[in-house]
Order: sequence, then C-alpha cells, then structure tokens
Amino acid sequence: MSQDLDPCIRCGACCASFRVSFDRSQLLSEGGGVPDGLADDETATLCRMRGTDCGCPRCVALIGVIGQAVQCAIYAFRPDPCRDFSPDGLAGILNDACTRARRHHGLAPLHGSCL
Ligand code: SF4
Ligand code: SF4
Repeated sequence: MSQDLDPCIRCGACCASFRVSFDRSQLLSEGGGVPDGLADDETATLCRMRGTDCGCPRCVALIGVIGQAVQCAIYAFRPDPCRDFSPDGLAGILNDACTRARRHHGLAPLHGSCL
C-alpha cells in the first residue's frame, strides 16, 4: 500500500491478502528498517511480514479498518514489496493484484479516473 495515495488510505486490502516476503537485509538487525519482531523467518535469506502467511492474512503492521481508514505502522520502514505495490503498478498499468485484493475484501476495483 501507499499512504501517499488516497485510495490506499481508505483501503489496505493488499496488506491483508498476500504473503509479504523480503530480503533479510531489510531487517533492522541487518541494517534495514523493518523491526525484527514484526517479521518471521522464511528461508536463510528471506523473511516475511508476520501475519501475512496464513489462511486469512493480515500484516501485523496494518492499523485500522480495511475499506475505511488504514495506516501502516512502519510506513517509512516498510519492505520493498510494499513500496513496489500500488494501484497502478510499476509501469502505470492497473495492477491486477490490487483489484484481486480489493475484490477479496468486498471492495470495487479502482479505475484510472479514481487514481
Ligand atoms: S489493494 Fe490497491 S488500493 Fe488497496 S491499499 Fe493496496 S494498492 Fe492501495
Ligand atoms: S508493512 Fe505496511 S505496507 Fe507492508 S504489508 Fe504491512 S501494513 Fe502493508
């Protein structure tokens, strides 16, 4: 999610839909910014945001009510997958995963005119 984008601060669906895996170098103890206590080990080189690898995922850093008002508690220090994930994707093309996450939480897809 991006707290710089209006649809995201009223959504948060992606933070409660997908596993968020990232390189261990982004952990605070490894010189990054993600607090170690909010992550679980995945492999020797990867870890993931706690709460994102289960049947009903929800990142432990997500605050608020999905579809109403949300915040990321570690926004300035969120890992790369979170920085790369936005409604319009990296190349300005509507992000299908955003649409799927919103649908999963009963939210209508965003359209270009809403961004
Ligand atoms: S699912 Fe889409 S609109 Fe919702 S927070 Fe994530 S990127 Fe933003
Ligand atoms: S770290 Fe923040 S932006 Fe990333 S999944 Fe968790 S709540 Fe969402």
